[in-house]
Amino acid sequence: MYARLALWLCLLLSWTAGSGLLAAAPAGSEPADVARLRNDRSHTAESLLSQLESWGKTAPTPLAAGWAKLGMGEFCDEMEQPERAYALLDEALAVAAAERADDLASAAHSRRASMYATRGDAQRAADALARMEAVARPSGRKDWMALWAYNRGVLERKLGRFPDAIRYFEQSAELARDGGDREQQARALNAVGLVLARTGQFADALARHNEALELAQAVGDASEIARTYRMLGFLHRNLDDEELAAQNIREALKHLGPRDVREGIALRGELSRSLLKMGQVEDAARFGEEASEAAMSLGSPPNKVNSFTALSDVRLAQGRIDDADLWSRRAAEQFNSVAIRDQVQIHANRAAVARARGDLRTALTEARATVEGARKLGDKVLERGALDALSDIELASGDAMAAMATRKAFQQLDKTLAIDVAGRRIAILEGNLTAQRAETERALLARDNQIQTLRIARQRLLGIALIVGLCALAVFAYMLHRRYRETQRLHAALVASASELERVARTDTLTGVANRGAVTDQFEQLLAETQSTQRPLAVLLIDIDHFKRINDHHGHLAGDAVLREAALRMRDALPAEARFGRWGGEEFIAVLPDIAPERAGLIAERVRHVVAAQPFRVDGAELAVSISIGVASAPRPERRGIDRLIATADAALYRAKHAGRNRVEVG
Ligand code: GH3
Ligand code: MG
Ligand code: MG
Repeated sequence: MYARLALWLCLLLSWTAGSGLLAAAPAGSEPADVARLRNDRSHTAESLLSQLESWGKTAPTPLAAGWAKLGMGEFCDEMEQPERAYALLDEALAVAAAERADDLASAAHSRRASMYATRGDAQRAADALARMEAVARPSGRKDWMALWAYNRGVLERKLGRFPDAIRYFEQSAELARDGGDREQQARALNAVGLVLARTGQFADALARHNEALELAQAVGDASEIARTYRMLGFLHRNLDDEELAAQNIREALKHLGPRDVREGIALRGELSRSLLKMGQVEDAARFGEEASEAAMSLGSPPNKVNSFTALSDVRLAQGRIDDADLWSRRAAEQFNSVAIRDQVQIHANRAAVARARGDLRTALTEARATVEGARKLGDKVLERGALDALSDIELASGDAMAAMATRKAFQQLDKTLAIDVAGRRIAILEGNLTAQRAETERALLARDNQIQTLRIARQRLLGIALIVGLCALAVFAYMLHRRYRETQRLHAALVASASELERVARTDTLTGVANRGAVTDQFEQLLAETQSTQRPLAVLLIDIDHFKRINDHHGHLAGDAVLREAALRMRDALPAEARFGRWGGEEFIAVLPDIAPERAGLIAERVRHVVAAQPFRVDGAELAVSISIGVASAPRPERRGIDRLIATADAALYRAKHAGRNRVEVG
């Protein structure tokens, strides 16, 4: 019973403890040193590259060297050395194939896909993604699939397939959430927000960015925090709120690390643009110069276009036209390496510079190309600015009719945009409200969850306490029951031994008839009864004749046998209601209630007869035994009549002895 109880308790405890167990993640093949360097955000890509390069030269295994190649490829990508990066990633892939290291293969394919997608090579990006999927999907690894879906989303976005992009980014966020990777979850949510903002869903975009910001802050991912603020900045610029845009970009700058070089260039260029629009020319110049300087050595082609055109615009505002032209030409050199959005930026800047130089023909061509490009992109804000500039140039070049038509188109678009912007502002306000409400609901939910968790824990504890208590109670009850049964048994034994003791105490051990004490008690009881009922009482005092001789001739043991036999014969001859016992030695006494004196004599005679009539057989010999009896009787005995009755009977017995024995005398 106890063993089963212990088993149940063990099961219960293991269930309680087991509910908190977590599944361990499978270990990867990446050396810890490589992982440390790849995740290091506190050094520049350049310094990390040289560290990893020297580590790779003494890598302990070919697989470790393969991982080093992957890390080096990633750093080269960040340093805007794509050709070297591709070569290193291919080397890493060759090692992954030879060593059958799926994790290395997945990471290398992922980086190649992202590089091709960023550089507009959709075909190669799709190939790399297909190869990554072939490794990731059968592995069942959520982290690999989250990365794959993210890269797939980037490609879809570059191809302008926005709904597909959103679907893949959301899938990535979901997988990252399930796998507990909050960095990747934040990244994917920001990507969803970016696409939503481009398709005009500002409230939803804001909600995603807010969620991403919360996650990135929770895990301390500074790069993702910076990215989130940059996207929030773009969102506000779309709503023509330059001030809020600048604030967010400044906030983003605070979170940059040494490795976020390209992000830093883009942010400074954007900030320069915002400040210029707000009339803060000096500050705009400072950020434009910083961005352009960095872009010259480390920037990607889009980096260069953004920072150079931003600085060129600042120089125009400062009246430094030659300088403006210089930076404008530098931007234009990148024309064939960038996508259409950046090309529109180059046209707009070229038009402004040409206008300032008085080269109205060039200005007109560039301005028309700007309008065309903006229309192709579907970017109405960009188009409005382009129409404004074009109408200005047309007027300056004397074509009043064209200027009028362009101005009309501008006004129409401005109206639409004003309505649009009003709508966007309402949407963003609603978005803020929704975000606040969602935040409150999240807090409430978190509190509810906490309460629920506490409640479950308390119930579980109560359950355990109850079961332990019940078990203890059962054990206690069982012990109590055993104790009770033992006590009962002991009590019964005690009662039995007490009555046995009583019986022994009241019995003559030799003959088995009542002893003198017992028969005296009975005598007194009878006397009390007969006194109250006024009934007669008789006493027979009996003595064996010449008993000493029996002892002398046949031995003491034979005497004992005679005593026993005589006692039995006498008792059987007496009436049932008679009280009979041994009075001492070879003397006996019988007390007879409700017996009149004349009947008492007859009974005594019968007793005498049963003894004397048949000889006693002792040890094969036959002994003649006789008794003498003295009878005393009282028709109405008194309270203290025992002694008197006995004295009377004794006197009668004495007479019987003297009269020759074997006879009855009535007193
Ligand atoms: P009388 O006829 O005058 O009664 O003679 P008696 O011999 O019976 O009487 P007496 O008083 O002289 O002797 C009684 C004897 O009974 C003495 C004693 O040793 C013997 N006696 C008393 N109790 C016991 C007993 O328990 N067992 C045996 N074997 N003898 C006993
Ligand atoms: Mg005697
Ligand atoms: Mg005698």
